[in-house]
Amino acid sequence: MAKRDYYDVLGVSKGATAEEIKKAYRKMAIQYHPDKNPDDKAAEEKFKEAAEAYDVLGTAEKRQKYDQFGHQAFGAGAGGFGGGGMNMEDIFSHFGDIFGDAFGGGGRGQARGNNLRVRVKMSLEEIALGVEKKIKIKRAVSAEGLTFKSCTTCHGQGQITRVQNTILGQMRTASVCPSCQGSGKLVDKKPDGVGSDGLERIEEVVSIRIPAGVQDGMQLRVTGKGNVSFAGGAAGDLIVAIEEEEHADLKRDGNHLHFELFLSFTEAALGTSVDVPTVQGKARVKIDAGTQSGRTLRLRGKGLPSVDSYGHGDQLIHVQVWTPKHLSPEEKALLEKLKDAKNFQPNPTANDRGFFDRVREMFS
Ligand SMILES: [Zn+2]
Repeated sequence: MAKRDYYDVLGVSKGATAEEIKKAYRKMAIQYHPDKNPDDKAAEEKFKEAAEAYDVLGTAEKRQKYDQFGHQAFGAGAGGFGGGGMNMEDIFSHFGDIFGDAFGGGGRGQARGNNLRVRVKMSLEEIALGVEKKIKIKRAVSAEGLTFKSCTTCHGQGQITRVQNTILGQMRTASVCPSCQGSGKLVDKKPDGVGSDGLERIEEVVSIRIPAGVQDGMQLRVTGKGNVSFAGGAAGDLIVAIEEEEHADLKRDGNHLHFELFLSFTEAALGTSVDVPTVQGKARVKIDAGTQSGRTLRLRGKGLPSVDSYGHGDQLIHVQVWTPKHLSPEEKALLEKLKDAKNFQPNPTANDRGFFDRVREMFS
């Protein structure tokens, strides 16, 4: 049977980059992996064929030879593995890293327990400074006082190797032992009250340092604080998802904060000083006489820190001048007197008109 072109095997072009070749091989290796296709000869052949093609095209030196001389570059046999073809052990030992987490490190590692997930509420004040949170969780762990014996199914190896005789020679496939899930040991003696799986659910308080600047939906990982899924096994992780609480006065926009400040007509006309809430406490802000509604003031650095850099947001204060909705007869009489006063007639200058510029600045 004529050998197929290695580029055709992986389904890539002759000019493919090393990264494209690796990606193509990874996809095929996962698709035709023996753990996914038990007792499927055709899949096994494809798996081996792809591995052989990758052995050549994945190595710059071998690829260059192959481009020049074709299959002859490597003699009559298969790829870089002499005349004997590649067996499964070769493939796993050469390219184990390719499979990555799809098979938990090559499909034969010891299984880790499930991850636990919790949500943690954070106020903007907490996000501004970062905070240490204590989280109460319930997790499954190996019970205290267990003793173990060697697994009788795999004799402590943690994996089961199957050897099959085929026309191509001996084929060996290995998979995680189903009895001990790869640990190589089984529960021997357990204290009273512990179930046959040797696990118990405990309550634990985990301390986690949440950095300043986090955002809603971000996830932090505490290694080894998830569940253990079988006695003596390794724990999964605790995944902490950030949930941002809405602030009564401030609205977040990335690292910037927005605050809407209502001033009375007289405050805006005469000027004043007001206390404005920020995530770092109250800030005193001076309002100039003659401040217009719609004006934006910027408190530099009073926003939120960036979680992954040294940047710091600002707080933007949007001035709204309050127009009275109800007037007593006395108030009405006073205003009537001012109605035609010269300085009460709108007379905007270029400065007052910069509405669109201000919008642009707000989002800068
Ligand atoms: Zn076992």
